Amino acid sequence: MLLGDERAAVCEYARRMVADGLVVGTSGNLSVRAGDLLAVTPTGVDYAELRPADVPVVGLDGTPVAGQLLPTSELPMHLRVYRAATDPDGHPISAVVHTHSVHATAVSTVADEVPPVHYLVALIGPSVRVAHYAGYGTEELATAMLAAIEGRRGCLLANHGTITYGAGLRDAYHRAQQLEWLCRLWLLARSAGEPRLLPQAEIERTGERLRDYGQR
Ligand code: 13P
Ligand code: ZN
Repeated sequence: MLLGDERAAVCEYARRMVADGLVVGTSGNLSVRAGDLLAVTPTGVDYAELRPADVPVVGLDGTPVAGQLLPTSELPMHLRVYRAATDPDGHPISAVVHTHSVHATAVSTVADEVPPVHYLVALIGPSVRVAHYAGYGTEELATAMLAAIEGRRGCLLANHGTITYGAGLRDAYHRAQQLEWLCRLWLLARSAGEPRLLPQAEIERTGERLRDYGQR
């Protein structure tokens, strides 16, 4: 099967998004790139029932290549990331994850950036912007998102959700989880008082340090 591993990974991570509470029902979508092809979640399909052979494969211009189902309505946003975004560290961009995780979406309705309440903001970039609102699936949303992720690995979409990318689904998904966690943390802190925020220089210093965080 064309892109068998990538289509299986799309099914696995789509189910994880629901199980981990990052989306409800058929909301959200994700994609993986292999060369000039993308495996993407189909639009409006229950992820519990999704099988690898059903996962649509499209070209980088959106042309259908394999799979019977229509691709996600957010294909313009996914294509825009692969075609026009640049990873701040020069890493390849091979996966995109879009969620409606509830705390991040709540923050997207009240802020222009995720308040730097924790150093892990630096996992996304020097700041996490909120892209201005545009209707789901539109080119206008893709344009707003692209401006917001400039120099970053993700952003919030106003009154809608989140988008993150990575060198693979594991990275892109991990960033979606951390972004949700950061927003939840800020909302929780806000309910207890006025959160102390970290200075920009500290977020930038942490961004440098995180480059070689973990096992080498
Ligand atoms: P799809 O089912 O078309 O992927 O739409 C879900 C979504 O999140 C739209 O923004
Ligand atoms: Zn959405």
